[in-house]
Amino acid sequence: MKLLSPFYRALGAVCNRQLGRRSRLSQCGMCGAASDSKFQPGFGLLFDIDGVLVRGRTPIPAAKKAFQKLVNPQGEFVVPVVFVTNAGNVLRQTKADQLSHILGVPISQDQVMMSHSPLRMFKKYHEKCVLVSGQGPVLDIAKNLGFAKVVSIDMVREAFPLLDMVDHNRRPKLPSSPIVNLPKIEAVILFGEPIRWETNLQLIIDILLTNGNLSSIHQNQKCPHLPLLACNMDLMWMAEAQSPRFGHGTFLVCLENIYKKITGKELKYEALMGKPSEMTYHYAEYLIREQAAQRGWRTPITSLYAIGDNLMTDIYGANMYNRYLEERAARKSSKAVAKVAAGTRSSTALPQEEEVDNAWETELAPPSATSCKSILVCTGVYNPRTEVPPDANQAIKETVFHGHRDFRFDPALVEPGHIVQDVDAAVELIFEREKLLVQ
Ligand SMILES: [Mg+2]
Repeated sequence: MKLLSPFYRALGAVCNRQLGRRSRLSQCGMCGAASDSKFQPGFGLLFDIDGVLVRGRTPIPAAKKAFQKLVNPQGEFVVPVVFVTNAGNVLRQTKADQLSHILGVPISQDQVMMSHSPLRMFKKYHEKCVLVSGQGPVLDIAKNLGFAKVVSIDMVREAFPLLDMVDHNRRPKLPSSPIVNLPKIEAVILFGEPIRWETNLQLIIDILLTNGNLSSIHQNQKCPHLPLLACNMDLMWMAEAQSPRFGHGTFLVCLENIYKKITGKELKYEALMGKPSEMTYHYAEYLIREQAAQRGWRTPITSLYAIGDNLMTDIYGANMYNRYLEERAARKSSKAVAKVAAGTRSSTALPQEEEVDNAWETELAPPSATSCKSILVCTGVYNPRTEVPPDANQAIKETVFHGHRDFRFDPALVEPGHIVQDVDAAVELIFEREKLLVQ
């Protein structure tokens, strides 16, 4: 883990004093174990943020209590922890600083995974000219992720002032030619919901239908369209309001339907990132392994626990990754059985089998985890008063499936491993399962 600023070291010291008063783990638990250099955690934690740790900008009280249990007297985490959020409108360091203030423990940016974090792996687009859509410092975020040639929606508006017309007040009085020369756009990256949806919808459709050359007219026959990469598929999210708010998934529904209505064809994504995509969990697991390695923990992290408030993102995603891990383990064991059987029949060694399951394992190394358990909290989108799913098959009908178009409805995937009141109860449950006691 990277060194922390003096402010966060001081924060760590304050936290330790609080820890000393409020929460001590028993001798077989983490505190004793954490000060004992022999202690090696075999599990890691993935925390959602909105609806689990905060509601909008307001901290959820249980969050601070939970995190005081997760650090040792030196202010260091005693198990690997990664924050996996579908938010995408800030830099990782900014989010880490916000979390440090909210939770009262020092958080490094290496522990934060935004919905756009896997874009670091899409190196083939890093030298291409990409349009970015979203709010906040999206140009800085894109550059920070490795993209060298980035164009914003505002830059497109400035270069082509006749295109943004839904708001009639934006309509130029006289026809004008482009003010700025823009390079041909080669890919589109959707970071999150923008502020003026009509402007972004219009200009993104224009770019897709002109194959990135806005000086030309729409060419509906162009197929496939330019590569489109989207981060965050959440239809809704939970802020301070009583009911959920539109998320980026709602914006994608608009874009997909407009494109289909105009062209008669499906909008296609080169990649969909953020929970519940499997890619997100591959990357989060990689960050957990990296964190364990940096701390010198050699015991493999075999169990992951994912804590979230949204059935369609946190629970669906964790369960899908758990299914992937189980299927992977089953494939490995059947290969091992086949090898043993072959060995008894012949002394000739089997050819080295390809262990790489997919491109992510090539890029990030194979996972050490064999399970990913989902834990649902009741402090966010999920409301136990209106959504009591004793049987998820009955409670969530396909007609109200809030997941993304490209993710099929599967009742088993929206069934949480556990339902608890809040994040503090989730941490206690995990300690109990892992036989770590809190006094
Ligand atoms: Mg959430």
